[in-house]
Amino acid sequence: MIIVMEKDASAAQVAAVESKIRSHGLDVHVSRGTERTLIGAVGDERKLDPEMFDTMEGVEKSMHILKPYKVVAREWHKANTVVDAGGIPFGGRIVQVIAGPCSVETDVQMHDAAAGVRAGGARLMRGGAFKPRTSPYAFQGKGIEGLKLLKDAAASHALPVVTELMDVRMLDAFLEHGVDVIQIGTRNMQNFDLLKAVGQVQTPVILKRGMSATISEWLMAAEYIAAGGNHNIIFCERGIRTFETAYRNVLDVTAIPVMKRETHLPVIVDPSHAGGKAWMVPALSCAAVAAGADGLLIEIHPTPKEAWCDADQALTPAEFATLMVQLGAVARAVGRDL
Ligand code: PEP
Ligand code: MN
Repeated sequence: MIIVMEKDASAAQVAAVESKIRSHGLDVHVSRGTERTLIGAVGDERKLDPEMFDTMEGVEKSMHILKPYKVVAREWHKANTVVDAGGIPFGGRIVQVIAGPCSVETDVQMHDAAAGVRAGGARLMRGGAFKPRTSPYAFQGKGIEGLKLLKDAAASHALPVVTELMDVRMLDAFLEHGVDVIQIGTRNMQNFDLLKAVGQVQTPVILKRGMSATISEWLMAAEYIAAGGNHNIIFCERGIRTFETAYRNVLDVTAIPVMKRETHLPVIVDPSHAGGKAWMVPALSCAAVAAGADGLLIEIHPTPKEAWCDADQALTPAEFATLMVQLGAVARAVGRDL
C-alpha cells in the first residue's frame, strides 16, 4: 500500500503514519520528493485498508498496489488453472458445454433432457432442484427429490451434474447425493456465509456473476471460496442489469477477456439467462466462444413451451444439436475445440 502525504504534511504526521504501518507488522519505505512524501507499506498489505489512513492528519490519499484477490488473481499464478469438474476439464483447450433444463420437473422430462444433452455433445448436465424465483408463489423446485431425478437421468448417459445451492443447510445433502458441481447463482454471489461454506469442501463451484456486480466484487466473492481452501472455482458470466429492457440482461462479452486477464481460473458463459429468449442463445453462445470463454451453460428442454421455469429461453434438443455444430466451427476458428 502507498500513502501519499499532503504537500505541507509535518514530520510528526509522517511519523504517525509510519508507526501505524509498523503496528500492523509491516515495514516502511519513505520516499521524500520535492512536492510530496510517499510512504510505502512493505509486507502483507492485506492487513491494511485505505480507510485506516485516509482519516489521518496530513494524508492526502492511500491505495493498495496489489490486487486484493490473491488466490484467484493471475498476478500470483500465471498459468491457466484447469478445474476438474466431475472428470471434465475446464480451462484447457476444449470449450466445455453444460446443458439441461432450468429446473428439474419430472422423471420423463429429465431422461429426455439427458438424452438431448448427450446427443448434442455436451459433457455435463444441469438442472435446478432448488430454484431462486422472484415470486414466492412460483414453482420453487423439487428439492431433494429433484437432486435424485437429476442424478438418475444424468447417470443413464454418464453425465456429471451441475445444480444450484441456495442454502448452506443443504450442502450436506448435495454432497450425499453426489452433486458433481455446485452452482452459486447470481442472487447469492455475495452470500458470504454460503461462499465460506462451499470453500470448506473440494466440490467444484460455478460462481455466477451477481446481476449488478463489478468484476472486482465478483473476483472478491471467489476469493471467499478460495480462502477456505477450495480453489476449484469456475466463473460464469450470465448477463448484467443495465438500462436496456429489450432483453433479460446484457451479456457482458467484455468481461470474458478481462476476467481471463485477471484470473487464472476458468470463465464460462450462460447465454440463456443473458438474453432470456431462445432465439438469442446461438448468437450469444458464438460470441462467448469467440471472446475466449472456456465453456457454456445452456438451458435446453425436451418441450420448451411446457417448461415450468424459463420456458422462453430453452432450446429444443434439435436446436441445441445444431448450435453445437456451429460452436465447434467457432471454437476451431479461435484455436480451441468443442
Ligand atoms: C439458473 O442457472 O437456473 C439461474 C437461476 O441462473 P442465475 O442465477 O444466473 O439467474
Ligand atoms: Mn433458468
